[in-house]
Amino acid sequence: MARKRLLSKSKYLNGLQCHKYLWVKLNEPDRVPQFDASTQQRFNQGHLIGEFAKKQFPDGIDIPACKFTDNLKQTEELLKKCKPLFEAGIMVGNAFSRIDILKPVGKDEWDIIEVKSSTRIKNIHIDDVSFQRYCCEQYGLKIRNCFLMTVNNEYVRESDIDTAGLLTMTKITAGVDRATNGIRQRVDSMFTTIGSEKCPDVTIGKQCNSPYECPLKEECWSFLPENNIFDMYGSKKEAFELFEQGIYSFKDIPDDFPLSGRQEIQKGCEISGKPRIDKKSIREFLDKLKYPLYYLDFETFGGAIPLFDGVRPYQQIPFQFSLHVVDDDNATARHHSFLADGTGDPRSEFLASLKKVLGNSGSIVVYSQSFEKRVLRALAAMFPEYNDWVENLNDRVIDLLAPFRAFHYYDSRQKGSASIKKVLPVLTGTSYDHLDISDGMNASLAFLDIITNSAQTEERVKIRNDLERYCALDTEGMIWIVDKLKELTKGITV
Ligand code: SF4
Repeated sequence: MARKRLLSKSKYLNGLQCHKYLWVKLNEPDRVPQFDASTQQRFNQGHLIGEFAKKQFPDGIDIPACKFTDNLKQTEELLKKCKPLFEAGIMVGNAFSRIDILKPVGKDEWDIIEVKSSTRIKNIHIDDVSFQRYCCEQYGLKIRNCFLMTVNNEYVRESDIDTAGLLTMTKITAGVDRATNGIRQRVDSMFTTIGSEKCPDVTIGKQCNSPYECPLKEECWSFLPENNIFDMYGSKKEAFELFEQGIYSFKDIPDDFPLSGRQEIQKGCEISGKPRIDKKSIREFLDKLKYPLYYLDFETFGGAIPLFDGVRPYQQIPFQFSLHVVDDDNATARHHSFLADGTGDPRSEFLASLKKVLGNSGSIVVYSQSFEKRVLRALAAMFPEYNDWVENLNDRVIDLLAPFRAFHYYDSRQKGSASIKKVLPVLTGTSYDHLDISDGMNASLAFLDIITNSAQTEERVKIRNDLERYCALDTEGMIWIVDKLKELTKGITV
């Protein structure tokens, strides 16, 4: 007999992405891996923004959401009061939705206001609200309009947060009308899926990455061979075309299948098992480096709520740099670093510390220059006295990503990526795996734990040490990469 399970709005969205994902989440949730740090961060930001949104409705009533049935009962009672309700729980049959803000209009109508920490409206938000409105209307509420409250990324903090400036409200009723077409059939079909004893058999496809990367990807995609066509550089369009023809490995790609120049290089490396080394182009790149060499890397943090004056939502605030200086070909590298103490806005101290150790001549080597340049320009805008200095720095920047992004060097173990996290282990045998903080997102979250005081003293010491080790590896790793490139191109002149 079919089992009855609850379809919430998040499950409805899971079902829109894939019925297999929906079934697993409801029937075998242990198969779904824990959220990664960036997903958790997205949820945290959403929660924070939700709290600010409530301030826009001072007479609103917050309905505790921790106890499911209590929330439903209280909602039923409070709907009679004709006041804005936060977290109202609406259940019809086995469909359930919690509404961020349900605002009364006149005597018997309501507006739905959904709050998101995003800075723009996405299709998934419209689908989300369409399910909320469906539940409300099935329940018997008359919904006049639907709105989405998002973060205004033009807002600049001046002293206390101005909630009205931070949040933007957009009417999305017309979009919700469109997304509601056929919703009953979709909901019925999802109930059929989740009530089934058997997990639906779904072929992997574009839905696995959209609107979010599906947490079941590792499981569903595990039948593919190591280094498969989905590692192909660029968009996944060609890979899906090949997949539909039953081609999973590079070696099986027909010769007449149109590939870009970099994809052809990738295919060649996969088949030969050898790296591609365009010695002349690499040498041309190396010849641009002028001693002393400054290997530089920044770490930044940012969130929906600007923590300091003069900062916009999601603006990246630098809190750490690592700098390795190599004076000449035979010199031992000197290391300088800065890590903010986490007690306030770090930008002024960051700039002053960087200026002290960054000389006036020589190349500044970074990995993916747009990030460092953007951060420096934002700092110069805030502290105009550094303007000329920053412009001079940006002219000296050399991007070590360039020869890898151009596939002048490529090894199949990079799996189509030119990121330093892939290139460093392939070229030097050193990876980031032994570090407790091993990527920029984790570094940023760890520093947020310090600045928001959520880490205890002992933990703060460890976080600071981990951050120092992580950022230092980024710059020392760049030295090793350059050394390796020099070794590979020894004797080449251009
Ligand atoms: S990985 Fe793809 S096929 Fe598997 S459950 Fe997720 S969306 Fe569905």
